[in-house]
Amino acid sequence: MLLGAGRLLCSDRRRPGSAHEAFFREVWRELPAVRRVFGNSPWRGHRRSARRTPGSAMEPCAEPPLFTFGVIADVQYADIDDGANYTRTRARYYRNSVRLLRRACRAWSEEDVRPRFVLQLGDVIDGHNVKHGASERALETVLRELDGCPAEVHHVWGNHEFYNFSRDALLASALNSARLGDGRLARPGDMYVYHFSPAPCFRLVVLDAYDVSIIGRDETSEKYEEAASIMKEHNSNPDLNHPPGNHDNCPLMSFSQCRHNCSFFFSVHTVTHGLEQRFVKFNGGFSQDQLQWLDEVLSLADTNQEKVIVVSHLPVHPSSTDPICLAWNHSTVLSILHSHSCVVCFIAGHDHDGGYHQDELGLHYLTLEGVIETPPHSDAYGTVYVYKDHMFLKGRGRIEDRVLRYPDHVNG
Ligand SMILES: [Zn+2]
Repeated sequence: MLLGAGRLLCSDRRRPGSAHEAFFREVWRELPAVRRVFGNSPWRGHRRSARRTPGSAMEPCAEPPLFTFGVIADVQYADIDDGANYTRTRARYYRNSVRLLRRACRAWSEEDVRPRFVLQLGDVIDGHNVKHGASERALETVLRELDGCPAEVHHVWGNHEFYNFSRDALLASALNSARLGDGRLARPGDMYVYHFSPAPCFRLVVLDAYDVSIIGRDETSEKYEEAASIMKEHNSNPDLNHPPGNHDNCPLMSFSQCRHNCSFFFSVHTVTHGLEQRFVKFNGGFSQDQLQWLDEVLSLADTNQEKVIVVSHLPVHPSSTDPICLAWNHSTVLSILHSHSCVVCFIAGHDHDGGYHQDELGLHYLTLEGVIETPPHSDAYGTVYVYKDHMFLKGRGRIEDRVLRYPDHVNG
């Protein structure tokens, strides 16, 4: 019965209030072993509150915005036939993704208020390009489309950038937009971090979520060693893209069975392994140097009474994403964001289903839906209208409209 239910639930794996969630609650009640590990209500705090859309019926203010910017995530272009995600629960439209990117650029060009900049949240080409020797060609294709944008593009780096290129190659490529950054508090070492002010009293900070990572670092580097040690501590699977967990003692089925019911397997892991799932090879973390740099940039913004939007490929709030997509040291980042009065929003990609959460201090965590898993008839991009006391995300296609009012301590 459980196996059948798992297959049935593939399509709404993480939808709050869905049959899927009801199923987990049933599993929870029925399996003492699961309850012993996690205590009460494991999904509380892990589950996204993404479908809650504050002010979703609202339209942009009648008054003109201070400025606007475009947002798009996980294009993952490759000149190959359609495929599926790792768990085979979602279609991926590799060739069509560049057409959706083109549509986004055209739409931004035609808007009454031209965006001040466009934010490309990472994974702009897919790792499949590597085995076809097509990385450079694919990058040229997406950059040609981005040339059609009516504003400069700020690039964030994701795991697929590192599947295709080394860090040195990325630093020397057109995907390095750090030249557009503010010269103050320049990046330390070879991290890809910078900040810029798109308008008076506003600042954006671009973070490098693969600073400490197995895929983003040379195997002889200290940061690779640090990443390998973190993975060794948390994940003993032969395939480090598989989330941690003792499959032999999986409360419902064996590892091999799980692999044949992948969405079910990952769903069981959501209950049994919670936030530990983030320790997979396709995620990474922020080094101590980077966190110190972030702290200094935010202190400067506090002093200058700026409002700050922080961006990274990986989400940092557990309620804004599936835990398997979360940055390794997400809680340290949250502590830093909370220790400053200037931060209003954190924007990420990576989780193609998207997500949203507003925390107890009023900070917004937005995870943008990925272009790659967007059907050809739909879209996945947005325009953010920035006002003095709130932002309005006008979503297209899969991306919902949202009003993001700044926290009370920011609006005063
Ligand atoms: Zn990614």
